[in-house]
Amino acid sequence: MNCRSCKSSKVVAITAKCDDLCTTTDLSTGKFQEGCVPTDVGIGGGDYLKICICFQCGQLQGKFPLSDEKYKTVFGKVDEKAVTKLFQDAISKQK
Ligand SMILES: [Zn+2]
Repeated sequence: MNCRSCKSSKVVAITAKCDDLCTTTDLSTGKFQEGCVPTDVGIGGGDYLKICICFQCGQLQGKFPLSDEKYKTVFGKVDEKAVTKLFQDAISKQK
């Protein structure tokens, strides 16, 4: 398989089992979630993170862009418990 962007053959599939320890953060809003890997967004789903990346140009391979509606549905939620835990973890690391 060649990269869909630069056509390089340096494309690697990566699978990582993270169970329910996946975190996602929308970097423009800071919305943070913790749990399973989101499904139907091109990064695997459930217990597994699955991505294909080009190590020539950095392009993530897959069906993109994600629609605005889907993005909002999947990454626009705020998990208050997860945010609290994130801050507690950050504070405890500073001590
Ligand atoms: Zn590429």
